[in-house]
Amino acid sequence: MTDTTASGDVRLAGISKHYGSFTAVHPLDLTIPQGSFFALLGASGCGKTTTLRMIAGLEEPSTGTISLGEREVTHLPPYKRPVNTVFQSYALFPHMDIFENIAFGLRRRGITSVKKQVDEMIDLVQLGEHARKKPHQLSGGQQQRVAVARALINHPQVLLLDEPLGALDLKLRRQMQLELKRIQTEVGITFVHVTHDQEEAMTMADTVAVMNGGRVEQLGAPAELYENPRTTFVANFLGTSNLIESAVESAGSDVAVSASGTTLRLPAARCSTTPRTGGKLLVGVRPEKISLVPAEEEHTIAAGRNKIAGKIADSSFIGVSTQYVIDSPVCPELEVYVQNIERDARLVPGAEVVLHWNPEHTFGLDADQSIS
Ligand code: ATP
Repeated sequence: MTDTTASGDVRLAGISKHYGSFTAVHPLDLTIPQGSFFALLGASGCGKTTTLRMIAGLEEPSTGTISLGEREVTHLPPYKRPVNTVFQSYALFPHMDIFENIAFGLRRRGITSVKKQVDEMIDLVQLGEHARKKPHQLSGGQQQRVAVARALINHPQVLLLDEPLGALDLKLRRQMQLELKRIQTEVGITFVHVTHDQEEAMTMADTVAVMNGGRVEQLGAPAELYENPRTTFVANFLGTSNLIESAVESAGSDVAVSASGTTLRLPAARCSTTPRTGGKLLVGVRPEKISLVPAEEEHTIAAGRNKIAGKIADSSFIGVSTQYVIDSPVCPELEVYVQNIERDARLVPGAEVVLHWNPEHTFGLDADQSIS
């Protein structure tokens, strides 16, 4: 068999981690392409930090091998691996100025003429005017940039980032997400970023691995994960999904299902499981894909759309859109987000409405999974 691993890919083969009888990471096969921005995303305790620490060499895997390109590094100590890690606590040296913090890795290697390289790094992270300040004179976001510059100064093959923005407030975190993305694009080094924040992963990463209970549930580009979740966990962890229990009426390239007497359609290609007539399917649709009309306007809905009748249970104005909760025999609490441009004074709690959406925007999940 030909090995298709590119020269600098990170490859985990059968990597697992046990702590006594507890399995933090189940055997995992994962290839992280060279030069990509890769996110390990999941709730607290799902094993993402453990996975990152195994790549860093800070944890010994219980099974499996880790390679960087052609080189197996499974048992190499951290300092012998061409990787570096940025932690949430910036861990800057408080008594050194920014220039010296960044220069540290070079000086430790015995390099004395550091100015050109450090200046380049300071430019990269846009801290030119702060070079001679001490860490405590910088904001949290600026300190985090110093930590990134310090980790990049020795040109690692892979930069590991463990919740690096976790200590920042929301606005700063958003700015730093874009900043880190820009830096990664500029330096072209593989970034592996651990986060529990789905929006952060979606904003920054080319590829996201969604972890749950020590396993990768799904791997893909952010839009692909959002549009085509393969499990209920992914459907609920990335954004909001309306999940409707249904029975399959007919299965072909187009699938028809029945939910409490209402027929809905979806393409078989958007199902994570092969639908079988008479079998069960969880049918999903994102709240922003749904349109809403008062019941008396049902005749205005184009043919071929999926339709559900219901009653508005609640509505909340959230700036750019209004969020409705709809009670329907088909599903007790359907969520719908409507852009405010379409706001309609008749859409108030208690109003009879019809929801409708394009069948192409419907996905199907295995109904035997529990809804998490
Ligand atoms: P968080 O976002 O909270 O850091 P995580 O997804 O990164 O969570 P890990 O830190 O990888 O999760 O931990 C995965 C599981 O392994 C958790 O249940 C954790 O309690 C357990 N664990 C981690 N380190 C150890 C250890 N040294 N000894 C025993 N159990 C551990």
